[in-house]
Amino acid sequence: MKRIDNQELKRKMLVHLADLYKIKEVRESNHLSSYITCRTKSFLDAKQTVEPTDEEVLLFALGYGLQDVLTPKDADAPVIEVNGILYRPDMILDRRLNEIKTTRKSAKYHYMDDSLPLTWIDYMMGGCFMRGDLEYDLIILYMMGNYSPPFPDIYAETELFELPEITDNWNNKILPNKAVLDEALATGVPPEPFKNCYDWECKYCRYKLVCQTIARASGISMSEEQIKKDSELWG
Ligand code: SF4
Repeated sequence: MKRIDNQELKRKMLVHLADLYKIKEVRESNHLSSYITCRTKSFLDAKQTVEPTDEEVLLFALGYGLQDVLTPKDADAPVIEVNGILYRPDMILDRRLNEIKTTRKSAKYHYMDDSLPLTWIDYMMGGCFMRGDLEYDLIILYMMGNYSPPFPDIYAETELFELPEITDNWNNKILPNKAVLDEALATGVPPEPFKNCYDWECKYCRYKLVCQTIARASGISMSEEQIKKDSELWG
């Protein structure tokens, strides 16, 4: 027997997954998530500056595919619009908001012991505000499970929010973030790199070189701290 590396077949599969889940299509920029994660990235996505990498295609496809499998047939996923912002929950099941997350993080380091990512919390609070809810169900599929060898594990919890915190998130985070992105899209000038995101978002971002170039070209003085952080993140 002889084994031959088949790059053509690999490319075919990647193209199939990208087409199936429309991963290379430019989505409207006014989705709730655009105002939660990096605004510079949302701008560059809208302008389709860089195509998703093979790794991103696989990660998105796995996430979408597993979400399809996990969604019961009687679940609904309507689009809700408030203040020009579009929001589509992963599913509404038994009239309750549900978010489905998949992660390669080990269940051993469960988000319950840690804390939930801020972007998840901001997104769920945004969804609650838009739907007029205070509760959000969260399902997390741990692809790598807890043990060695790894077996998948699933976890579910309910977040109980209070009206002041979801109102504060809407008025003082989401709407100001929307204003930044709206202005950038109207003027064609991207939001300042590294200032409109969480630090950790840059680590595996496909736009890191673009952002470094924009920052240098626009004479944005990168602080000693930022330069150190850059070299730690990107070598
Ligand atoms: S590298 Fe950082 S600042 Fe630039 S788009 Fe990515 S996350 Fe945003």
